[in-house]
Amino acid sequence: MADSSFCTACGEAIDPQRDLYCPKCGVPVKGGPADVQARAVYKEITKNTVTWAGVFLLIASIPSIIIGLDCVLNTSVVATKILDVYDPVISLQVLKDNIVTFGTVMLAVGAFGVIGAILCFKHRFWVVALIASIVLLFCGIFSFIGLFLALMAMWFLFSARDGFDEYASKI
Ligand SMILES: [Zn+2]
Repeated sequence: MADSSFCTACGEAIDPQRDLYCPKCGVPVKGGPADVQARAVYKEITKNTVTWAGVFLLIASIPSIIIGLDCVLNTSVVATKILDVYDPVISLQVLKDNIVTFGTVMLAVGAFGVIGAILCFKHRFWVVALIASIVLLFCGIFSFIGLFLALMAMWFLFSARDGFDEYASKI
């Protein structure tokens, strides 16, 4: 226990039985009550941040799912809308096939976003949740709110990685 007799920040001699904070620099004594409390607060904050990232991911997934369902279920209607404003140099059947393919990809993206949100709520697999936020960010060009929320989720995930179980144990 020789290490705990000196401040981890400045090296000042401390008494772990008596000192809550280093008398010289004010850093909580490692393993002491103040240190344990500070870690608990930090864990709570990062976990809350991760939960919010999950909420953002969930909402950001909605536009992809709606667009995807529309393309897959109402292919003819979507094709008619496209033909109203743009005349592609492909047959109607090829256009419809492309719409279905696009819709399937959007549904997959939306599903990935929902999985990322669930992982955030469970505080597990930071990397997968982060990839989901990046994928949603790239598909966010189809809706401004999706783009903004995916960006927020990504930012929160970067800043609160310790809120995931696989990193929380290292705090
Ligand atoms: Zn100190």
